[in-house]
Formats: sequence, C-alpha cells, structure tokens
Amino acid sequence: MKKYLRIVLEVLLVLLLAGASTLAYMNFSGKKHLTTDMEEVSAELDETKDTLDKTKEQLDDAQTRLEETEASAKQFEIVKQAFANGVVLQDMEAVYKAQKTLSAERLVGLGTVRQLTKGFEDSSAVEAFQKSLEIAELGARMQAVCSAQSALISAGKKVTLMAECMVKPGEKKAQDDDEKSKESAAKKVHWTYEGEEGPEHWGENYPTCANGKKQSPLNIKGDMGKARDTISPEYKETPLKIINNGHTIQVNVEPGTNVLTVNKEPYELVQFHFHRPGEEQFNGKSPAMVVHFVHKSKAGKLVVLGLPLNEGKENPLIKTLWANLPAKEGEESAPEKMIINPASILPADLSFYTYEGSLTTPPCTEGVNFFILKTSSDISKGQLNKFPFKLNARPVQELNGRKILAN
Ligand SMILES: [Zn+2]
Repeated sequence: MKKYLRIVLEVLLVLLLAGASTLAYMNFSGKKHLTTDMEEVSAELDETKDTLDKTKEQLDDAQTRLEETEASAKQFEIVKQAFANGVVLQDMEAVYKAQKTLSAERLVGLGTVRQLTKGFEDSSAVEAFQKSLEIAELGARMQAVCSAQSALISAGKKVTLMAECMVKPGEKKAQDDDEKSKESAAKKVHWTYEGEEGPEHWGENYPTCANGKKQSPLNIKGDMGKARDTISPEYKETPLKIINNGHTIQVNVEPGTNVLTVNKEPYELVQFHFHRPGEEQFNGKSPAMVVHFVHKSKAGKLVVLGLPLNEGKENPLIKTLWANLPAKEGEESAPEKMIINPASILPADLSFYTYEGSLTTPPCTEGVNFFILKTSSDISKGQLNKFPFKLNARPVQELNGRKILAN
C-alpha cells in the first residue's frame, strides 16, 4: 500500500511541476506579447510626432509666403491707385504718339499702364501686349516676351506660356531671375554661318533677320550722298579680355576706358570682334577680314565702326590677340597684366562710309549706325590662317532704298 501511495505522490508531483512550468511559460509569453505591442504603439507615436513637426514647418513656411504675398498685394494696390486717375497713361500716350514705332519693351509698358488704369478688360491693353509679342525676339527680349505672355493669359487670352517664363514656387525671386537668365541663355536657338542653321534660316527663329528692311552688311557701291557726321575714337590702353564665343573671336573692353564720339555724343566701346571674310563689300569685293568695334551710348544706341583688314604686313595688335586665344570655346581669357590698345590697329585716315543697319548676327536687331572706314589695315597671311573661323560673315543684304553716305 505504501508503495502505491509513493507512486501516486510522485505522479502528482510531476503533474504539479509540469503545471507550474506551463503557467510560468504562459505568463512570460503574455508579457512578451504586451511589450511588442507597446513598442509598436510607441513607434507609431514617434512617427505621428514627426509628421506633426513637418506639418508645423510647412505651416510656418506657408505663413511666411502668405505674408510676402500680402505685402506684394498691398504694393500692387498702391501702384493701382496711383494710376487710377489716368494722368500717367495720358502722359505716356502723348510721348509715344510722337514715335513712329515702339519697341517690344515699351509696348509691354504701355499695355501694363493701360491695364492698371482701365482694368483687366481693356482691349487696347491686350492689343499692346499682342503687338509686343509679335515684334519681340526670343532670347534677347525674353523679359518682354514673358511679360506679354503672362499679361495675355491673365486677360483670358489663349497664349502658351513658355517654360522659361514660369516662376517656380517656393524659390526666392533673385534665384529665379538667375535661373531664368541661365535657362534662356541655354535655350537660345543655335545658329551657324553654313548649312541648316545658316543665314538663310536665321529668320525662322529670329524674325528680324528675314523681315528687317535695314539689315547689315551691305555692298558699298554706286552714288553716295555726303556724310555730315563726325567720328572721333579716343581709344586707350585697357586690360585684355578675349573670348571665343563660337561665332567669332571677341575682345571685351573694360567699361569706361574707350570712347567713340559721334557728333559730340559719346559711345562707349563695349567689344570688338572679327569676321572672315570682311562682311561689308566694296563694289562687290570682300576684304580679307573686318574688325567690328561695337559701341553703346548711355541711351542704349549702338554704333559699329568697321575696319577692313587686307593681307600685308604682320599686325602687332593681332599678334598679341592671337597669342592669347582661349583654348576652349566659351571661356574668357584675361591673362594677368596683359594690356592692349585698340587705337594701335586704326589707320591714320579715318574717312568713312556710313549707313543705318543692324547687328549682322541673330537677332539682327536694327537701329545700328555703321561707319565703315575706307582705309584698311594690314594682317599677315600667317595671321589670317591662325584665325580659327574659316567663314563667319553674313552675306550682304538688300539696300531697300537706304542711302549710303561718304565723307
Ligand atoms: Zn560684326
């Protein structure tokens, strides 16, 4: 009997032990489960907090932008009030009436003042914007193009806004302007002197090149009227800055150092560059090359002084220039302490032919006065061969009733 009791007790003990460990395991496992749940909830909470932080940042940002917009709206309201009585528009119309043609920029200005004076439904404002869009050239007048497009869209007209004109939200204005100018520079339509992008095709992207009636260069021949203009170059020493812009070799001139006086009005020398052969012809014949000295007045008027180059002796100024040609297209080279004097290439006799023309490269903008010297300077055969462009001259253009004058 004692023996059975012991077995029973032992079985009981085993059962008890098994039960206790099961309980203990169950207990432990439950806790582990709970901990995992807690960790998940906590992670979710952290995430929510992050999202909240981000939302707060976005809200702050939006608030700042709203304040900026509010400030602009207030400024706009002040400008609108100032124009409301119509005096500015009257004055502007009176001034512009005296001018036969208005530039794209002026037409945009006129359209804007009309809108500010008479409201957004003013049809003459829309007309002014449309006209400015027609005459503005892409690239060089990007700002006028963009303003006209935006204004026409805001007046409910169907006009495509070019990508270059779109302001990216959230960026500072200065950055935008910088980006835009970089973009527009990059998107300027490529052109060449031969082939599919050659002079016959320039007009496809630069309308003035095809439609202009006062284009350059010209064949200088026939009867000439007497020129009354006087020119006086006061060129001095200036630090050398030279660039291969892909179309020519150009020397950029330090502002304020060199001046051409035309009829007592000063024109600052901005740059000079070379064409091969010379663009202007004399009785149908082109000189070996030409130097174009490009000048600008304070009012923005352009004057080009053309100096033909013919094969002869070595030219000292060109020797210096060619020795400092930039290795790569597009890079300006400004060798330290290298000084040049543009006056050194000019002949003693400055008698000239003169006519009203245009830039000889796209966008072929008109309103450029040309003075082409009758006397050429020398360039050696070796120097001619070293010029990196075999052909970079626009063909001669129609005279279209213009008079070439000579002194
Ligand atoms: Zn030129």
